[in-house]
Amino acid sequence: MIYEGTIYRPPSEADSLLVQVTVGCSWNKCAFCGMYKDKKYRVRSLEEVKADLWSATPYRGSFQRVFLCDGDAFALPTPFLTEVLEEIRRLFPDLDGVRIYASARNVLAKEPRELAALTKLGVDMAYLGLESGSDKVLAAVNKGITRQEMIDAAAALRGARIKQSVSIISGLGGETLSKEHILETADALNQMQPEYLGMLVLHEGGDAGLYHFEGESFRLPPSRLVLAETRLLLERLELNSCYFTSAHVSNYFHVKGSLPRDKRRLLEQIGGALDSVVTI
Ligand code: SF4
Repeated sequence: MIYEGTIYRPPSEADSLLVQVTVGCSWNKCAFCGMYKDKKYRVRSLEEVKADLWSATPYRGSFQRVFLCDGDAFALPTPFLTEVLEEIRRLFPDLDGVRIYASARNVLAKEPRELAALTKLGVDMAYLGLESGSDKVLAAVNKGITRQEMIDAAAALRGARIKQSVSIISGLGGETLSKEHILETADALNQMQPEYLGMLVLHEGGDAGLYHFEGESFRLPPSRLVLAETRLLLERLELNSCYFTSAHVSNYFHVKGSLPRDKRRLLEQIGGALDSVVTI
């Protein structure tokens, strides 16, 4: 298996076979994201991908899923993805599923019939970075897509029975847009109805400090405000069936549980943490 540069994958894909089908991210312009800044986007050749898959056949049985890297492998043209998925099926017929990073942009670029075909070939979950449901925040961080496009992409995935694991970033609105960021994010998520939701926290680094909103420089929210954002988000979420985590390495305080069942417990835990925070 040959990997080019640093490989990122969601924590939940730690046991999956990681197959790099693209190098970098086809967008690569989000102000807060430095993951692929050192890579120039390109699609790997089918021959390279197939050779990688073949090289993993001695380990058949030691993984249950394949995760397609890099940043937004869903950007691949459907015929290319189809060939990759068919090869995965041929070599590893007993897999539970294939998962992939996707952006709303590349989901919406595919016809419903293409999405349905990908489901049939094993794609069962897409990892989607919503980051924020606020158009002001999305524009400020140069996400390149709107809140409505995120909601439309979620509907398209649901129509194709592809589960969504959505990530959002606490602190992305800075201090100025904190409340709008969270209220709009909760509202967008209530329309998207993801099966999994991960809340990360913005930290110093990347280019986060470079953007301005209405003349004000971005100010990273203090830890107390980040916790308050988590509480406000949970209060506003109305999700039918979703596993929520804020247990990423970036989080100040780790909570996880099923919504709506564990909502009260999660709120109590965050309330306790807020009571104990003086200032960090
Ligand atoms: S689309 Fe995703 S991977 Fe690409 S730059 Fe934005 S956050 Fe990073």
